[in-house]
Amino acid sequence: MSVVPEKNNYRFDTQRLRAGYDPKEHNYAVSPPIYQTTSYDFRDVAHAMALFGFRETGNLYSRVGNPTVSILEQRVAALDGAAGAVALASGMAAISYTLLNIAEGGGRILTSPFLYGGSADSFKKIYPKFGITIDFARNIENPEKLAEEIRPDTKAIFVESISNPNTVLLDIDAIAEVAHEHGIPLVVDNTVATPYLYNPIAHGADIVVYSATKGLTGHGNIIAGIVLESGKFNWQSEKFPQFSERYYTLRDINGNHRSFPEVFPETPFTSRIRFNYLNYFGAALSPFNAYLALIGLETLSERVAKQVRNAEILAEYLSNHEAVEWVRYPTLKNSPYRALAERDFPKGAGGILSFGFKGTEAQREAFLNSVQLFHYHVNIGDARSLIVNSPQTTHSELEPEEKKLADIPENLIRISAGLEDPDDLIADLEQAFKKAFEIKN
Ligand SMILES: *Cc1c(COP(=O)(O)O)cnc(C)c1O
Repeated sequence: MSVVPEKNNYRFDTQRLRAGYDPKEHNYAVSPPIYQTTSYDFRDVAHAMALFGFRETGNLYSRVGNPTVSILEQRVAALDGAAGAVALASGMAAISYTLLNIAEGGGRILTSPFLYGGSADSFKKIYPKFGITIDFARNIENPEKLAEEIRPDTKAIFVESISNPNTVLLDIDAIAEVAHEHGIPLVVDNTVATPYLYNPIAHGADIVVYSATKGLTGHGNIIAGIVLESGKFNWQSEKFPQFSERYYTLRDINGNHRSFPEVFPETPFTSRIRFNYLNYFGAALSPFNAYLALIGLETLSERVAKQVRNAEILAEYLSNHEAVEWVRYPTLKNSPYRALAERDFPKGAGGILSFGFKGTEAQREAFLNSVQLFHYHVNIGDARSLIVNSPQTTHSELEPEEKKLADIPENLIRISAGLEDPDDLIADLEQAFKKAFEIKN
């Protein structure tokens, strides 16, 4: 039971409400039901054999597949134009299962240094213990030179489409070309952008990962992740022997062992995650959380459009503020990413921005302690506006020289714009700045 999205011609705003779900198949329920069940009865022995032999699709056990979770998988796959999808219990599970699936047995991953803190930290700490070396690229913004950093055992390139926290944009089309010239896939973490603002597969990505905890579902109430595949990458090369490996568990009716691409020609990558990593490592998404994710997805376009608008307004306001050293937001006039934003992000460059606080450390602390409407915590993409001192929290595990490479100065403050009235947000920042500068140094 690989999850292949249904084919129809609906456009994005219709898909986010309808893809993957037909009320006729669910007692005409308008809202997708929560299939709160562990297992599914077999009709008879022949049915059990057909399911175990992958000759028939159906549900067996909710660790590897659940109807509510499967609606979510199909819906996001439709929004991203993906060939297949697998939902998982967190964004970190999506990233780790993806990279293990690509480089299991050893190898290197070449990654952008502009990353979510948890990714950067796990890349240094955990992966080397599994024989996977992560190289932080020096030339990710210069795709022509990037090729020099690909080694014989490099198995993939990993980037974020809009980086967290400093909203770096990359030329993903050019990076995909470099990857493909070397026979390796490009993995894009599209969490900050969401499929509403950016479609990585249309720009050459082979694998897309999301933390569905963030703007994709947008209400700060679930932890979830998803992996998508374009269906175009050739996994049956010498670089990826695990995809040619024939498994007893995938045997045909005559007992012949088969490989994942043989059994799941359209979705070899996500099927291998499902039946190896999800099945055996077990980070399953609960049906209830999948249901909440689906509710969140229904308003994806409106939410993200408003977050973009609020982020633009806040970026302008902060750019003109005397207590602000700099503002990073890709569509600002002085942003080095403005040209890429105009080329690749016609609907806006996301709801995240950051700024450099001009003042002492004590004043910066007083500022954060004084915000009232903004929530002070580590999440992003919530319907509520959030603020955080990333270098001291989300990215505190980075060592000084890594912070330098990732371009995260100590006075950086990150904002994730929510859906409030922007005048209230500005008023809140304004009163917090005032309180901060009541402290003299
Ligand atoms: C939050 C986040 C993750 C990790 O996702 P979880 O759902 O928290 O496990 C990965 N990538 C990015 C860009 C994120 O913002």
